[in-house]
Amino acid sequence: MSKQSEAKETQGWRKLPDTCSTCIHFSFERIEEKSKWGGSAIYITEKNLRCTLGGFKTGKSNVCDYHKLKEVGKS
Ligand code: SF4
Repeated sequence: MSKQSEAKETQGWRKLPDTCSTCIHFSFERIEEKSKWGGSAIYITEKNLRCTLGGFKTGKSNVCDYHKLKEVGKS
């Protein structure tokens, strides 16, 4: 392991910051809507972004001290 790799591990370096979007307590509704102008295009919007721990509205880039990283591939 290189010195830089060791330093990264020691410091807990990671590519992504902790945010609500990566927290096990984050939930949202995924809404699929057809285009208003016809055609087969489907638009996906995310609504009702919530913290299930505190029961309040939040955003994907927000965070709090109770953040708990969810496992990759699980929602
Ligand atoms: S507010 Fe805190 S506990 Fe709730 S989803 Fe965001 S990081 Fe997780």
